Amino acid sequence: MKDSSTLTHFLKICEEEIDENAAVVQKIKLPKINNSNVNVFLKREDLIHATISGNKWRKLKYNLIEALINRKSTLLTFGGAYSNHIHATASACKIFGLKTIGIIRGEEHLPLNPTLKFAAECGMQIFYVDRTTYRNKNKESFITELHNRFGDFYLVPEGGTNNLAVKGCTEIINNINIKYDYILSACGTGGTISGLIAGLNGDKNIIGVPVLKGADFLNNDIDNLVKQYSYETFTNWHLNFDFHFGGYAKITKELIFFINQFEEINNIKLDPIYTGKLLFAVQTLINDNHFKENSTILVLHTGGLQGNMGMKNKMDKLLS
Ligand SMILES: *Cc1c(COP(=O)(O)O)cnc(C)c1O
Repeated sequence: MKDSSTLTHFLKICEEEIDENAAVVQKIKLPKINNSNVNVFLKREDLIHATISGNKWRKLKYNLIEALINRKSTLLTFGGAYSNHIHATASACKIFGLKTIGIIRGEEHLPLNPTLKFAAECGMQIFYVDRTTYRNKNKESFITELHNRFGDFYLVPEGGTNNLAVKGCTEIINNINIKYDYILSACGTGGTISGLIAGLNGDKNIIGVPVLKGADFLNNDIDNLVKQYSYETFTNWHLNFDFHFGGYAKITKELIFFINQFEEINNIKLDPIYTGKLLFAVQTLINDNHFKENSTILVLHTGGLQGNMGMKNKMDKLLS
């Protein structure tokens, strides 16, 4: 197949399976607002696909094209045992006809948790590495070892973040049919917000809410990702480090109550790892008069609801 027919094939599957137009913008209400001089909208990236959720589709899209055009039959990637990226990648590779290998941090636990069970059912081959080895995931020597073991593959880094992921995330801001002043996203690796920054090209105010504790390194990582893609740096963005709730996947009662109230009011589900913390941050910042009067705030629902299955026990325990 020539590149053009590979691309035609890719687009045909996209047309049947993926609905980027479903990522509509909706007005939302936050549970406890003391101050009604701003409007808040949610961009529903979570509706693009049922199992290649939200920003993970944006990050995978051009990587899948690259893998297919380069005649790779296998895609290899990394993640934690509950990772949205692992879940989405397994699903995408099944749909687009690639074999997948998932290198998972930590030991095997049987039965498989819902994330890994789904990934395995999609055909992902799962291998576990201990936490020390996992830290080498970006090192050349470790990648060479993986090639010696698994042969040829297309590599997608942890969280799916690379230059092609940034390219995909620049498309999040296409077709937004409202005027807005601020755009906010939860941050893990920073790939998604880098796409927003690059795509907006100096326009709007962009705010990232890291969900990890001690994520200062993200300022640098994001600058580098943006520079690599745009050959430019921008200053119309910042990170707010106040809403990690103790660290990655750490939750509090207050957060879970907030998520439940938000769902009751808006009939939209959030996850406690990313979007719950983000919307909680938005509510707090509005009440602290962080935003200019009469401004419009656009918040990204980046998906990730599959993770709720893995968080269920933790949430139930907290509330019991
Ligand atoms: C992965 C993920 C993020 C973080 O995206 P990055 O590009 O790694 O910053 C945000 N929200 C959800 C729901 C995710 O699954």
